[in-house]
Amino acid sequence: MGAQSVNRRKDMSKSEVPAEVPPQIKKDDESIEATSPAPEAAKPVPPLEQPGSVYANVIKQFDRAADLLGLDPNVRKILATTKNEIVVSFPVKMDREDTIEIFRGYRVQHNDALGPFKGGLRYHPEVNIDEVRALATWMTWKGAIAGIPFGGAKGGIQIDPANYSKSEMERITRRFVFALGENIGPEYDIPAPDVNTNAQIMAWFMDTYLSTVPTHERQRNIHVVTGKPVESGGSLGRDKATGQGVTYCIQCWAEDRGLDLRNLSFMVQGFGNVGSWSARLLCELGAKLVAVQDVTGSIRNMNGMDPNEILKFADGRRGVRNYPDAEKIDHILFMKTPADIFIPAAMENQITGMTADWLDVKLVAEGANGPTNTDGDAVLQRRGIDVIPDILCNAGGVIVSYFEWLQNKRSESWDLEEVDRKLRKKMVAAYERVRATAKEFATDWRTAAYIVALRRLEKVYLERGIFP
Ligand code: NAD
Repeated sequence: MGAQSVNRRKDMSKSEVPAEVPPQIKKDDESIEATSPAPEAAKPVPPLEQPGSVYANVIKQFDRAADLLGLDPNVRKILATTKNEIVVSFPVKMDREDTIEIFRGYRVQHNDALGPFKGGLRYHPEVNIDEVRALATWMTWKGAIAGIPFGGAKGGIQIDPANYSKSEMERITRRFVFALGENIGPEYDIPAPDVNTNAQIMAWFMDTYLSTVPTHERQRNIHVVTGKPVESGGSLGRDKATGQGVTYCIQCWAEDRGLDLRNLSFMVQGFGNVGSWSARLLCELGAKLVAVQDVTGSIRNMNGMDPNEILKFADGRRGVRNYPDAEKIDHILFMKTPADIFIPAAMENQITGMTADWLDVKLVAEGANGPTNTDGDAVLQRRGIDVIPDILCNAGGVIVSYFEWLQNKRSESWDLEEVDRKLRKKMVAAYERVRATAKEFATDWRTAAYIVALRRLEKVYLERGIFP
């Protein structure tokens, strides 16, 4: 869409959408007639977002991009809300005899216009419906930017896994799958790992789901989850996929700026799957890891640290805090560490109006989902710090999940070289699409990434129309 068209359609902002919606989808001069008006649907649905919440942040990002693109007002209404929200409470037997606990689990399915719902499962004490909505919505944009046939979903259980034994975690996972019932399925909604979930949890998830389908259909349903152990149908390269995608993006950025990774330093927040893989892969390319933070604390060594050694030390629940070959520092000093690149790879809302001012870096490469809120974004832009936004930067995970899903469907098993090559191709193509769109709309990269996603979704909705 050219600049002229952008201006022409700019007046269709969310606040100006009329309360009465005509029974047709209009785009410029085209219109798709609906067979009958639906007066009920014409009433505006109350917004889901609470002021200041993570989902409100998503809606602000969405509004900005939708305004700039001039997104069709009806498509805008559809994408501004989630399709299904499932909340389940279920009992689980604890190790202590005669004791049960009740757990609350969530699955939010934002959109499936491009393909089945797809997104991770998070086990964390702060999981709540608002956060899951936000994460599900980001998954829709991510699939659209990556050019894969998946919609967006996310789920989780409000739980601190540190308080439960391995056998309790297994029973909790299995009961959660059972409680979700037909709301998940290999061609309908496909979970994957996220914070505090891993290949083992996915293996229990798959095993439980398969126990609920007829015997002769079990083998052809193993793609109900991705991120499984390789022996149980997982893909080679899925474990490192998100960190690998982050690394490909950083390589593209360095190339664009004529920088050599061997001369660059970086810091990582979160040393789990995404953070530790990003660190290992970047160090293999010669970059220097100078600071690490996880839930236990922050460490720094400006001469550089070996991520493999940190990982060995932090293994299990010990964390990085007491790693011997580094200085222990507080959160503010961590955020102020001078480095070329910051990779947030932990939780949401870490880069805010305040903390964005502390950063002393050239690039923020968002491994985590939603690490920067809109105030933080404004400060980063004012300070000229580049951002590779989450919905582009961490898309490697869902891309290789797609490869795993395909391999399962075709009874194939690709070697690591093939997975990496295909991932690289998709990540670089997505990076280039966002770069070109940022230029076309003279906007920041997050807004550009949204525009890439919204354009693809808008096209699909306008082609397919709204039933009836
Ligand atoms: P993980 O559970 O493997 O690791 C999380 C890490 O963050 C741990 O090191 C933990 O100690 C640290 N952490 C937690 N709270 C923290 C805090 N308040 N401050 C500092 N560190 C903290 O999780 P993960 O899979 O690596 O996911 C990390 C982020 O990446 C999440 O935002 C997730 O949604 C996103 N993500 C993950 C994947 C994936 O494939 N796993 C894909 C895309 C995006």
